[in-house]
Amino acid sequence: MAKVIAVNAGSSSLKFKLFEMPEEKVICSGIADRIGHEDAIFAIKPANGEKNETICNIPDHTIAVEMLLEALVDEGIVASLNEIKGIGHRIVQGGAYFSHSEELNDRTEKLIEELIPLAPLHNAAHLIGFRAFKKALPNVRQIAVFDTAFHQTMEPQDYLYACPMEYYEKYKVRRYGAHGTSHMYLAQCAQSYLKKGQNKIITCHIGSGASLCAIKDCKCVATSMGLTPLAGIMMGTRTGDIDPSVMPYLVKQTGKSAEEIYQEFNKKSGLLGISGISNDTRDVEKAALEGDERANLAIKLYARRVADYIGQYYVRLGGCDLIVFSAGVGENSPYFRKAMIDEVKEALHIELNDEANNTMVRGKEGIISSKDSAIPVVVIPTDEEVMIARDIVSILKLK
Ligand code: ADP
Repeated sequence: MAKVIAVNAGSSSLKFKLFEMPEEKVICSGIADRIGHEDAIFAIKPANGEKNETICNIPDHTIAVEMLLEALVDEGIVASLNEIKGIGHRIVQGGAYFSHSEELNDRTEKLIEELIPLAPLHNAAHLIGFRAFKKALPNVRQIAVFDTAFHQTMEPQDYLYACPMEYYEKYKVRRYGAHGTSHMYLAQCAQSYLKKGQNKIITCHIGSGASLCAIKDCKCVATSMGLTPLAGIMMGTRTGDIDPSVMPYLVKQTGKSAEEIYQEFNKKSGLLGISGISNDTRDVEKAALEGDERANLAIKLYARRVADYIGQYYVRLGGCDLIVFSAGVGENSPYFRKAMIDEVKEALHIELNDEANNTMVRGKEGIISSKDSAIPVVVIPTDEEVMIARDIVSILKLK
């Protein structure tokens, strides 16, 4: 038995989950949020206990890690820090260097650092998290689990952009995708819903960030996010795919800088931009049901963008044996799922079972399509952290 920590370090937050392996038992989870602020939040929650939350000064990630480790001992979650045998970090950008998880050492650290220009906020923050744990627990080995790794099986026809080749060769401009750990988890879980000889899956990870993946024989064939997570379908606050000419046009028309417009594409667009209400599907859904036209339009637009990709991937895969919904919206919103499936049902002969769709929420897993549906549709709650915990055990060969 070994205790391992799955870590997701962002620029101002550090989320963690402590597992007992190989049982995959969650012992506790928590977050240090608003790192760098005097009124930062530190919260820790044992699997079956009350959440303990404090507002305090957390100046940097090193302090956040020290607080986490102290809390594990103080709250009696571990008797000693020696019980922790491995740590795994979610890394957003692994470029073309990493097609699977690897141990963090001087070589891998250098490569992740080299990739910082491709994911400036994320990769830099992940390295800060790694170094903070290295300082606090110098003898505990750490691994990196890449959001892009699962997508490394794409063919050049799927990952290249049709811009001058030198931009790919010199600057590594290409589609890398994201949410790979989630899509891989969903692909593995989905196998139990496939009949003999079936192997084609479309996974829809629809959260505040959202992406689709076309998967054949458990390998990624195509995915909707691109060089960065801005590409693909419309999201909570992101545009998704957009004509690049919109950028210089808006710069000229508005007098804003390219950086300002880019921030708006990332943070002010999507559901929020179209509805003018919120990036949260719950708010938009409520407004749409109350007759708000823009909220209704936002949902229709979102659904159609998802349908565009389902159609594209149906062709790319040469058919589809299963559609999977997951993440915040995919796991919890029957309304959105129906809106998305309504857009493809005529062409693909998919029928939802309304009752199953309406009850498959809050962590439930199961089929939401009717028996007559040409393609079964299933909801599978994703679990990126357990994938990290599994990789820690296998890479560090923990018993
Ligand atoms: P992230 O990309 O941050 O990991 P999540 O996958 O947790 O996001 O998704 C969060 C989003 O899921 C929320 O912004 C909200 O739009 C949506 N969501 C969460 N719960 C529900 C719910 N009960 N009904 C509808 N939408 C929900």
